[in-house]
Amino acid sequence: MRSKAISFNRRPQILIVSGLDPSGGAGIQADIQAVTALGAHPLPVLSCLTVQDTRNVYGSEAVSADLIRQQLECLAADTPIAAIKTGALGNAAVVDVLCDFIQSRDSVPLIVDPVIKAAGGGELADRELIHAMRGRLFSQATVITPNGEELKLLGENEDEDQSARKLLAAGCRAVLATGGHGLGDDIINTLHLNDADPKQWRIPRKGGEYHGSGCTLAAAIAAGCGAGLSLEDAIAAAQAFVSDAIDHALQVGSGQAVPDRFRRERS
Ligand code: PLP
Repeated sequence: MRSKAISFNRRPQILIVSGLDPSGGAGIQADIQAVTALGAHPLPVLSCLTVQDTRNVYGSEAVSADLIRQQLECLAADTPIAAIKTGALGNAAVVDVLCDFIQSRDSVPLIVDPVIKAAGGGELADRELIHAMRGRLFSQATVITPNGEELKLLGENEDEDQSARKLLAAGCRAVLATGGHGLGDDIINTLHLNDADPKQWRIPRKGGEYHGSGCTLAAAIAAGCGAGLSLEDAIAAAQAFVSDAIDHALQVGSGQAVPDRFRRERS
């Protein structure tokens, strides 16, 4: 007897390469939750493990780059990938593997969150990793999403706009300068592009630091791009999503609160 063909639901599948934060606030858990809450299916590949609580990062160890290469090849042979999101990458060898993988996938939106430091000040990238991201990864990204500190460091200029322009001149297609970890009454996210004036989005700042807000924003942008939104529409939707998650933030430990990625009112 022939078995009946069953058809299953499909969701855009978002490949996530990022690190583990055992407090569950940032890193791969934030990415998985954001992507899932926004109706996409995460394909999570772990790049590094951190020693971390809601206050800070105290240590980090990268996963073997060769193991990551095998995971990427294995996944890609089986599943369609609608968008890729990267976060903390562990070391430069992981960037090399990622760049090789991405090279033949030019049409897949790539959202790169160039994670360098935790909000508590702990290091998540060494010089070699920063050099590799700047030299090889950024030019392949649809957008990179540095926070203010990361942007100044990457663009080697205390002025964020000048830093962004330097990164564009060096080959980045788009730089979203995120203001979540900054000061000021409003959180201002600014999209810098090569061929257009900068575009800004503002939301009132609730105050305080939120563990994993940058990860959540970048993952939500990837979910939007994976669902077919333009970059600008995906940024607007992601910002609304993060804002709502922050409005319902959870107290997990004694440090920063954690955005609640499942409290969003769904329409
Ligand atoms: N990724 C990992 C693995 C982390 O541990 C952290 C921060 O602590 C981040 C990313 C960045 O977090 P945020 O979104 O708060 O900038």
